[in-house]
Amino acid sequence: MAQSEQVSRSNPYFDQDHEIFRSSVRTFVQKEMTPHADEWERQGIFPRELFTRVGELGYLGVRHPVEYGGTGLDYMYTTILCEELVRCRSVGVAVNLMVQSELASSIISALGSEEQKRRFLPDVIAGKKILALGITEPSAGSNVAAIKTTARLDGDDYVIDGSKTFITNGTRADYITLAVRTGGKGSDGVSTILFPTDTPGFSVGRKLEKMGNHAGDTAELFFDGCRVPRANLLGPEGAGFKAIMTLFEGERLVLAAFACGIMAELYDIAYQYALERQVFGQRIADIQLWRHRLADMETLLEASRQLTYSAAYMLSTGARADRETAMAKLFSSQAVKKIADEALQIHGGYGYMEDYLVCRLYLDVDAFTIGAGTSEVMREIIAGHAARRHG
Ligand SMILES: Cc1cc2nc3c(=O)[nH]c(=O)nc-3n(C[C@H](O)[C@H](O)[C@H](O)COP(=O)(O)OP(=O)(O)OC[C@H]3O[C@@H](n4cnc5c(N)ncnc54)[C@H](O)[C@@H]3O)c2cc1C
Repeated sequence: MAQSEQVSRSNPYFDQDHEIFRSSVRTFVQKEMTPHADEWERQGIFPRELFTRVGELGYLGVRHPVEYGGTGLDYMYTTILCEELVRCRSVGVAVNLMVQSELASSIISALGSEEQKRRFLPDVIAGKKILALGITEPSAGSNVAAIKTTARLDGDDYVIDGSKTFITNGTRADYITLAVRTGGKGSDGVSTILFPTDTPGFSVGRKLEKMGNHAGDTAELFFDGCRVPRANLLGPEGAGFKAIMTLFEGERLVLAAFACGIMAELYDIAYQYALERQVFGQRIADIQLWRHRLADMETLLEASRQLTYSAAYMLSTGARADRETAMAKLFSSQAVKKIADEALQIHGGYGYMEDYLVCRLYLDVDAFTIGAGTSEVMREIIAGHAARRHG
């Protein structure tokens, strides 16, 4: 059992079924993902077939209803899936898979009509089609209500014009759940539409070169007079902003769970190194200063897990958890950066070398305080609750 496991095994949030699920995801990751992760990172992309393989195993539809090919489980399983997938040695691959299975497809589940769900969800859950989530624009990131991409009704079609940026799975998505402006200024004018990428007028701009997460593609997208059937609108006009805000709770949980998984990996790597490396005639693990720093790392990991698991539990019961998911995301995304720094430091010069996983993870985790809502936005959510409580 890895060092980081000992605490989670006694966690009251998980029962035997959860542990069986965790063990099957872990076996899959170790056998079918980890051996290829370095190659995918070098190539800057992973094979499309991984989507179908992960779909076959049911991991793209954990929370989706059984009638559309999903498994009908809850956020506790999503949390486990994220913690385990991200330990494959390629954070980018895990992120891109979860964008499909949770972030982009959840909007279809939440807002889609019966017909839309039957038409789109089975192929997405099976991994036969790749899905992206298109919200961020060059001039609207944190402020989703400021998006400018328009969808103007013309007969039975919406005509879409505008651009998106930083879109995960963007270079090869078959569909995008796209935030568009169908009405006037502000949040009430925002809608979501299912956008097929074979629509004339659509183009993928640059594949963006990132600091980390290299195996996961991220792109700029352009929409120039794209005609999409009115039937692709998800929910009523103007329902997009509220749906996006609600679904962000799940997205933030996913990021928090990823952070927990990476922290566990980094802690284990650091502890193992401390056992192996001799300095001044003793193991690093026997130096009190490092024993204490490892204890601090473990405490940060455990605190992150507790916030994440309790937010997951709340979402699993159907409760709103915007405050709790914001806290879990805020704390875990900052903790993982701290732990990455410590894990690199314990390796001395080796930690700075690209041959070492700790070097890659250090760069990968920097996006965690930005994606799915920045730390500043998380604090705004938490502070908003406090202000309402205190009047
Ligand atoms: C690797 C990666 C993948 C991504 N994938 C996707 C994707 O698939 N789909 C998608 O739609 N988007 C995606 N994004 C975009 C991401 O959601 C945005 O980058 C994020 O929401 C922040 O928006 P921004 O970059 O425009 O920063 P801005 O909103 O311009 O913020 C700049 C700075 O100002 C701060 N700030 C903003 N508002 C406030 C405030 N009210 N008070 C205090 N400070 C504030 C921010 O915290 C930040 O520090 C991705 C981003 C990254 C890095």
